[in-house]
Amino acid sequence: MPNAAERTYIMLKPDGVDRGLIGEILARFEKRGFKLIAAKLALPSKEHLEKHYADLKDKPFFPGMIKYMQSGPVFCMVFEGLDAVKTGRAMLGATNPLASQPGTIRGDYALAVGRNICHGSDSVENAEKEIALWFPDGTLQYRLSQEAMIYE
Ligand code: UDP
Ligand code: MG
Repeated sequence: MPNAAERTYIMLKPDGVDRGLIGEILARFEKRGFKLIAAKLALPSKEHLEKHYADLKDKPFFPGMIKYMQSGPVFCMVFEGLDAVKTGRAMLGATNPLASQPGTIRGDYALAVGRNICHGSDSVENAEKEIALWFPDGTLQYRLSQEAMIYE
């Protein structure tokens, strides 16, 4: 059963910020109907990024990926809405942009797996962990006037 109060963690990576895509990517989630409930620019430490990507620590690309993630600011967002985690992943496209459909974020803006511009949580459990890591003070609760036009 899809959950309308589900939260997902979406993060524009340094290449996405550098390429001026913060507004574009944020707008895609807003226009889809998701509610922005937290956002900030951040320069995360190596330790913080290693926590975020802990499940990948044994992968050969891990050191290079952490270095790239520290090459500039990231833009951190939490969106809330119906089936937000699965829908967010669909909007992102495949991990390798070459396998991402046009119309997806990675399929429209990226070519290389190591420069795929945007992160999105892959499960509800990981989303909650990532939100707690990046926004320890929590997210906002408020109503959008258009909610009756987005939900039945
Ligand atoms: N990554 C990489 N090389 C690879 C696989 C992944 O550089 O062969 C990077 C890529 O930027 C990816 C990130 O590591 O977004 C995290 O990998 P994950 O498997 O979690 O993919 P995602 O959930 O981001 O689609
Ligand atoms: Mg992942």
